[in-house]
Amino acid sequence: MKKLIITLSGIALALVAGCQTRTAERAPEARISVESVKRDTDAIYEKLVAIRRDIHEYPELAGNEVRTAAKIASQLRALGLEVQTGQYGHSVVGVLRGARPGKTVAWRADLDALPGFYPDPEPFRSKTPNVHHACAHDIHIAIALGVAEVLSKQRDKLSGTAVFIFQPEEETFNGAKGLIERGVVSQLKLDEIYGAHVTAFAAGEIRVRPGEMFAYQRRVRIAMKNELSKAQIEALTKQVQQTMFRARPDAKPWEIQRLVDQSVGVGVPTTAFQDFLFMDSNFDTQVEGGELRLSAYLYETSAANLATLLPRIEAAVAASGHKAQLLNVSFVQANPTVVNEPALTRAAMTALEQASPPNSVLPLYGQAPFFNDDFAYFQQKVPGVYFFLGGSNFEKGIIAFNHAPNFHADEETIRRGVQSFSGLLLTRLGVTLHR
Ligand SMILES: [Zn+2]
Repeated sequence: MKKLIITLSGIALALVAGCQTRTAERAPEARISVESVKRDTDAIYEKLVAIRRDIHEYPELAGNEVRTAAKIASQLRALGLEVQTGQYGHSVVGVLRGARPGKTVAWRADLDALPGFYPDPEPFRSKTPNVHHACAHDIHIAIALGVAEVLSKQRDKLSGTAVFIFQPEEETFNGAKGLIERGVVSQLKLDEIYGAHVTAFAAGEIRVRPGEMFAYQRRVRIAMKNELSKAQIEALTKQVQQTMFRARPDAKPWEIQRLVDQSVGVGVPTTAFQDFLFMDSNFDTQVEGGELRLSAYLYETSAANLATLLPRIEAAVAASGHKAQLLNVSFVQANPTVVNEPALTRAAMTALEQASPPNSVLPLYGQAPFFNDDFAYFQQKVPGVYFFLGGSNFEKGIIAFNHAPNFHADEETIRRGVQSFSGLLLTRLGVTLHR
């Protein structure tokens, strides 16, 4: 069976080569072996780990990524990239022009750390009180710098331009939007954009799907006349929560710790994290200007259902007997969600399979609730693909569960990320990867 596949792909390659010889004036094909990408990755791995540890030791919150940005800019300059800083906040953009004309392909990394205290077991633990890289953005930075370095050595083989966007303020959802508003995406004339987020799959495992990676997240506010008792408010919010619910009978999509579970997680075709709608049970209750405001988040997997949500909530309020008190129902937060362009996702998976160890590029079958990424704003402007990159090492007890108190990532993730995503960008910039 295996041999048959090799033979067929050999024929396919011969056919492609045959077509190309008939196309006049083509530049000679740029070819790089997967092995040489791996060697180039291995050669810089220790350096990248040192950069990651340094950034981990000096984490900076959204809007304050001064030291982080300066370090990235100096690394990119040392690689010979054109570097622009501060287009929005502490952004850093590195541009690597290939020797031949072609597309402009961007890779995005994010810079900010999280507030909060974590009992970090690392010897390179955070030196800044109450700030910590518990969402792996330090690893994202190391991977992006690694990809930039691997590609910078292949400049003469690249058709087009690679752009490395290091965006600030991801956690506050301001960075990507800010960069777009300052014209960075339009000035660079990006054709494609890619990005990855480290999460709790096994280190190096890449998971992706066409379409939405996360559920749509909406913050709902129900404004009422301030005439309800505590018991009436409780009954009303319960009614709304019960109405705004859809899930398979046995599925519990709010059990986020089961996201990478072997039987119900998003890596399983029958995952519980498919086709759901649910609302947080804890409504925030506020009285302002004589108005009672009840607010909570909801999570919906289907874009087609979004327009029906507010009317359904209004109907649920009416069904609870409080139609006369209802002022309005609105979304007070409706960020876009990450949506992968289907054709580009399939092409990216093929390139990644070629560039990565066997069985490490895998489909994703569900959508994660609670999380989102402002990479979504880039995808509204440029076709893009966002990947989950596993960062856990279950045998060593390392679980890369984002924002969790015990968040911890295996640094091998850096090596695997650099190798796979360098392969992806090389392929998108006209290089043929071969074994
Ligand atoms: Zn994050």
